[in-house]
Amino acid sequence: MPDTTIRSNPRDAVLAALDALARAGLAPEPARLAVLYAYFSGGDPLLRSRLDAAWAGGGTPSAALLDELHAVFVAGRPAKDPGPRLEAAAADLLELTGRAGGQVASFERLLGDATGRLGALDEPDLRDFAAGLLALTRHLAVQTAQVSLRLGETEMRLAELRRELGETHRAALTDALTGLGNRRAFERDLADLLRDRRRSARPLALVLLDVDHFKQVNDTWGHQVGDAVLRAVAARLRDALRAEDRPARYGGEEFAVLLPDMTAEAALRVCERVRCAMADRAFVLRSSGERIGTVTVSGGVAVLIEGETAEAFVARADGALYAAKTAGRNRTMLAPVAG
Ligand code: GH3
Ligand code: MG
Ligand code: MG
Repeated sequence: MPDTTIRSNPRDAVLAALDALARAGLAPEPARLAVLYAYFSGGDPLLRSRLDAAWAGGGTPSAALLDELHAVFVAGRPAKDPGPRLEAAAADLLELTGRAGGQVASFERLLGDATGRLGALDEPDLRDFAAGLLALTRHLAVQTAQVSLRLGETEMRLAELRRELGETHRAALTDALTGLGNRRAFERDLADLLRDRRRSARPLALVLLDVDHFKQVNDTWGHQVGDAVLRAVAARLRDALRAEDRPARYGGEEFAVLLPDMTAEAALRVCERVRCAMADRAFVLRSSGERIGTVTVSGGVAVLIEGETAEAFVARADGALYAAKTAGRNRTMLAPVAG
């Protein structure tokens, strides 16, 4: 039940009418607004008693009741009466408000036009009513501007979050030392490629590379030199690969490369290119010019067998790498297709 006291200030009567409409769950349609305005500004006692009855016991006036009261108490009134003109003024403003939508700039312009037109009205109470609606509309315009400002800020913040999320996602899949993919990226890429291969029987090769006697490099020259060697392996790998190949740092000094659509021969060539690039170049300490010498790598290559699991595929490449190690290191071995 709204506060049913009569408002002497038309602006307060407009606000009370709008509030009562909102409480009844009805849109601020001009005819219904005019009925409630009549009530709150102290209109016809019969109209007031009909609405009092509707509110009694916690109810709200129905749309049908408001329309009936409109027909009886507002629409039939003589043209000189402010009622119908008031309704027309409200319709005007409400229509303008609706049209303006989120466009605050054009909204302000429309508001200016409306001010001019309504200012020309002669009846004092109609002018007051219009002034009330204008004040309310201005308030709505400011609110709209604030909302659109907040929306803009929210959009910017969302874009920022999206970018941060993208960076976090990239970081979670990148090895910080070499900039290659990490173990997680490798496993994701392998799962994706295996899924593709189940649909179409295209080849997929896997190369595993392990630095030879790397512990010795660390022990002799220190961890930082060891790190520089790992970065050098990553650089040689990048030089040897195509855009679609997926290199990753698989573990400490072990690298894995997925080579989509590559035959065993082609994959062996890629692995040999990296191995030779490492074996052909000696490392020199930048600080003192001291010669570290060459650091070699061993490689194991496997080509996917139809129906093979990721684990079995990696295990076969690992077996080939182990064979290269036991055969003397600084070499590449191809995994047999069985076992
Ligand atoms: P093998 O030829 O049989 O592969 O011998 P290895 O010495 O290379 O192999 P091992 O597994 O004994 O040693 C690997 C070493 O790699 C031990 C570990 O300290 C080192 N290592 C692992 N991750 C890093 C890293 O990020 N930076 C450095 N500098 N060393 C690392
Ligand atoms: Mg090693
Ligand atoms: Mg190792």
